[in-house]
Amino acid sequence: MSLKGSSLISINDLTEEDIQYIFHWAGFFKTAAQNKISLENVVDFKHSRNHTVFLVFAEASTRTRTSFEIACHRLGVNVVNFSDLKNSSLAKGESLEATMTALDALGASAIVLRYKGRKFQSDCGTPIINAGFGSYEHPTQALIDAWTIQQVRGKVKGEKVLIVGDVLHSRVSNSNLKLLRKLGAEVALCSPSALQPQDDFWQGVHCFKNLNEGIRWASVIMCLRIQTERHDDSVGLSIASYRDYYLVGQEHLKMFHKDGVLIHPGPYICGVEISPTVFDDSRCHIITQVKNAPFIRAAILTRVLNLELKEDKLPADGKK
Ligand code: ASP
Repeated sequence: MSLKGSSLISINDLTEEDIQYIFHWAGFFKTAAQNKISLENVVDFKHSRNHTVFLVFAEASTRTRTSFEIACHRLGVNVVNFSDLKNSSLAKGESLEATMTALDALGASAIVLRYKGRKFQSDCGTPIINAGFGSYEHPTQALIDAWTIQQVRGKVKGEKVLIVGDVLHSRVSNSNLKLLRKLGAEVALCSPSALQPQDDFWQGVHCFKNLNEGIRWASVIMCLRIQTERHDDSVGLSIASYRDYYLVGQEHLKMFHKDGVLIHPGPYICGVEISPTVFDDSRCHIITQVKNAPFIRAAILTRVLNLELKEDKLPADGKK
């Protein structure tokens, strides 16, 4: 089923055509922004002004929330930030489901939701965009990551992506495994046994015991943050020993593919997952990912809101 007018909860909700549509329009929006061209002739602002997107963030966020907000502004869509949940009716004991129903009644065209649970099913009728559900999935981040790889490497198919770090608790890596495989990339991981994933769909994914070996194999390195907020006592991880074996630093990049790509969804903790010096390496595209975020999220919103876009409205000098 297509994403048009529907929820985006998992990468499984995306058809091949949705992914191509999102990548295509993200590229178009990026070119328009680089040429300082407003989207008002591309998106029918009279139509988009009738839409209101609610950003409901029940967990901390910097990049995801702000890039969704920027995307709404660029598309001429109204945006309501609903992130101070301690001062909402949820604090009075109302369920998330009842809150969603109220937002639907207030005229939400879509709800961008981040929360601690694994899956959120709602009958409220408004499409929901998963902006990070616990350790379940984070599909919009994976679309940013795959598009960044495509932009830098020219393709995703055939790429060898090494995911390093806390895969067990990472919603980003779950979505990435699904998306990168759909797009024909090979995925392997490198993480301590306490942080290796348990879900069935990870079965058979190669795990490098040694970081150097993994880096020699890879064309893309994706580092992940250690998600200490999701660790219970059974994880028993020592950050100091993690750093000794899994921190990616300049020394490692010496054995990395000369045109490879290093990414990290952020937030990154320098000195734990990566060393600050990697930012000086031209293969480091962590900031490119952040820059790409509003374009991918705008393209997702146009699909979910079913906005009509007119490609021929971009002046010729704004085309790629
Ligand atoms: N920002 C990503 C997420 O929300 C990664 C992270 O928090 O480490 O999952």
